[in-house]
Amino acid sequence: MNTQLLINGNFSNGLGNMFQVINPANESILAELTGANAEQVDQAVASAQKAFQLWKNQSDEDIKEIFNKICKALKDEKDEIAELITLEQGKPFQLAQFEVEAGISWIQFIADIAIPVETLQEPNGKKIEVYNRPLGVVASITPWNWPFMIAIWHLFPALKAKNTVVNKPSEYTPLSTIKLVEIMNNFLPAGVCNIVLGTGETGKILTEHKNIAKVTFTGSTATGQRILKNSVDSLKSVVLELGGNDVGIMLPDADIEKAVQGIFSSAFLNMGQTCAALKRLYVHEDIYDDVVGRLADLATSQKIGDGMAPNTTFGPVQNQAQYLKIKKMIVAAVQQGAKVIEPESEIPSTGYFILPTILTHVNESMDIVSDEQFGPVLPVLKFSNAEDVVQLTNNSEFGLGGSVWSRDLKKAHDLAAKMDTGTVWINSHSDLSPAVPFGGWKKSGLGYSFGLDGLLLFTQKQAIHISE
Ligand code: NDP
Repeated sequence: MNTQLLINGNFSNGLGNMFQVINPANESILAELTGANAEQVDQAVASAQKAFQLWKNQSDEDIKEIFNKICKALKDEKDEIAELITLEQGKPFQLAQFEVEAGISWIQFIADIAIPVETLQEPNGKKIEVYNRPLGVVASITPWNWPFMIAIWHLFPALKAKNTVVNKPSEYTPLSTIKLVEIMNNFLPAGVCNIVLGTGETGKILTEHKNIAKVTFTGSTATGQRILKNSVDSLKSVVLELGGNDVGIMLPDADIEKAVQGIFSSAFLNMGQTCAALKRLYVHEDIYDDVVGRLADLATSQKIGDGMAPNTTFGPVQNQAQYLKIKKMIVAAVQQGAKVIEPESEIPSTGYFILPTILTHVNESMDIVSDEQFGPVLPVLKFSNAEDVVQLTNNSEFGLGGSVWSRDLKKAHDLAAKMDTGTVWINSHSDLSPAVPFGGWKKSGLGYSFGLDGLLLFTQKQAIHISE
């Protein structure tokens, strides 16, 4: 397993600060790595800049062929990559396999998108062609929740649009991203996709760099705001996928059994560490007790443990800071009157495990309801009027996603249209598609990912006016 920086097609040791990668299931040290210093970040950007001069002229057919070869190579190593994801991230191996397979399908979808050229004809006979040109070097900062998948979401649209990239993975989960970039480099020209590691200041150095044309970042709102500030001097374009506090509204006519399954799967997806997970559930008073009981049963049915152990369905939280943050939010909610429903399952004595937890007797004055918990805890609130819930939850500073659960699709659609969020699901939550633009409103983000809209954010327009 390579654990170094990859700059201009070559692996090299970092010369910056040391940091450790910890297995969250048992707190053992998986790797000790050395991050890049400022000079090495500079070298990575310079190599991407040089490679851009060639890559920007690469034909669409060549790029498609290279992407297809990368997909094949990833398929050949999919279980090894899934194991790396489980070891560093904590999720059950089957979920890690899903992450790799979905990531490969995502690349295949991007390989097939055509970047349009628009031709306009003016009445005087003048023709104007509008091209979508690449921007230059893209800096990508990827998080620790879906480290492999989100790296694919960042890197492949950027490369497809003929930019070159310097990626900086989370210091908590760099291993599967290094593996991805290593495999990509077997097929890409040197310098087209580089990786720098680090913690503390690497991200800042990279995103402030004057030769970075665009930054794509997935993570917290606070860091996203700092990145936006870093971009001002050189007027970089920025795409931010940030936090969310997605609401689910369950109407009394919902198909309860199906809805509870879907709600549980979304709220506890990846141990709740998913930006587009359902994070607070409002249930109509007529079905509240039934729904809470069923959610508790699903929590009890989980097999908690090390993601590499057979049959594990529920792993640890990824890192200690996140574990402590979630625990603190639960304790604070309980002090304010919340009731905890958690399974009586045994929890391993080491590792960052939190049982899948349902909270009742909660209200909007509690942080666990008004803020993003990003972990395996679901507050469940009771309501009598769905319109009031929409109005109340629209006050949130977040606006990533929301869902309505009902058999009456017209009523659900009417409510969905009133929600101040970038995505609304009816009778599902968290489904994402490479074809559909995904982005947060308000403090949940800036710009879009996915689909042609997301791809075109890695380009700039060039209009060519042609007169006879
Ligand atoms: P952050 O959002 O703080 O992101 C950390 C990454 O950003 C690191 O790679 C870091 O690198 C880089 N970074 C930090 N400061 C700057 C800066 N000023 N300029 C540029 N890059 C910077 O993540 P955390 O891991 O600290 O998680 C905090 C919270 O974020 C979680 O509790 C969770 O709520 C949320 N989160 C949301 C995710 C999502 O999918 N939306 C994913 C993960 C977390 P360096 O230190 O080298 O600068």
